[in-house]
Amino acid sequence: MSLFPTEPINPATRGEYTPRPADGFSPSRIVLARGSSSTAARRRLAESIRAAYPEAEVIEDFGTPHNRVNLGRSDPLALHEEGKRTLVLAEHNSAVRHSTEEGNSCPNYWHFSPYGFCPYGCAYCYLAGTQGVRFSPTVKVFLNLAEILAEVDRAARRLGKPTAFYLGKLQDGLALDPLTGYSRQIIPFFAAHPTARLTMLTKSADVGNLLDLDHQGHAILSWTVNPRTVIETFEKNTPPVEARMAAMEAAARAGYPVRAVVMPIIPISGWEAIYREFLTDLLSRVRLRRITLGSICSYPQAVRLMEQKLGRENPISVQLDRRQSRMSDGRARFPQKLREKAYRRLVRTIREVNAEVEIGLCLEEPSMFDSLDMGDSMGRCNCVL
Ligand code: SF4
Repeated sequence: MSLFPTEPINPATRGEYTPRPADGFSPSRIVLARGSSSTAARRRLAESIRAAYPEAEVIEDFGTPHNRVNLGRSDPLALHEEGKRTLVLAEHNSAVRHSTEEGNSCPNYWHFSPYGFCPYGCAYCYLAGTQGVRFSPTVKVFLNLAEILAEVDRAARRLGKPTAFYLGKLQDGLALDPLTGYSRQIIPFFAAHPTARLTMLTKSADVGNLLDLDHQGHAILSWTVNPRTVIETFEKNTPPVEARMAAMEAAARAGYPVRAVVMPIIPISGWEAIYREFLTDLLSRVRLRRITLGSICSYPQAVRLMEQKLGRENPISVQLDRRQSRMSDGRARFPQKLREKAYRRLVRTIREVNAEVEIGLCLEEPSMFDSLDMGDSMGRCNCVL
């Protein structure tokens, strides 16, 4: 039997999965863009997703590609907010890619996109400042999942060795899963694959579709987490940290390899005690395989958008070293000394609670690993095996 049928096998397309509204997402309009009606299976899936949001206005725009939907706004914040209220159903014909990071310690890696962007409202969102999202900030579901997985298969077979394919670079990896049921196709695909492995990053606490699946250990699930105060201040409309930790515990109990990404670490007032308590709780509750730490690292457009939301005197902006954005990879970060101090404190706490867990740093400069004597950890972070 072929692993990769040309007809989508998503249970939702066969009427076996009933879409549920995704937690925290209530689009006011659904745009049916290019590719959303080109097969019977896609039409059925689009129809079932529409049924989950009966109040939403439906716009048929079959000639427009997913990234060209006109939202009728030019001000960046108004465009961004309109995008977050708009669900685009479409196809994506270049959804499997290899990253092209330069100027920081990150290895390049494979990633794939059955979704685009996300429904959450993190004020610091780095993705919101990237070229693709800045001009097209809608929430997207790509209906051609079978073709996307077939492309993952081709890439993995060319590589011929165990390779991670990351879901979470250009989207939240799980936030829209209640709507699509895609995990019930994606995880069995990776479970059956000889070499392709899934790494997925999310802030969602809804793991209802995942827990009964036979994953064969081929799906590594990662959660972005932060202390409650940080989430309440900077991550509007996201699941509380308690709910995320409960999801992580449930995933670990179901045998999934579970990782955490603590990013961005934000040095709010009292941060040392706040992060210490948070990490102690996290590591005591969840059996983590790896924990990756990261700071703010935003392109100037993302910083401007954040300041439109929070004001220029917000706790992130006032601590940014803006000269950083003219260096290395063009992202603005906190000053080197502050980052180093934060990593040192957090690593110490992690090691006190768990001497074995792997620790990585995300989007850091190579000199930071030297300062922390963590040279061995370089390239051992969340997006890769
Ligand atoms: S979850 Fe990620 S992509 Fe979504 S708003 Fe937050 S930072 Fe941006």
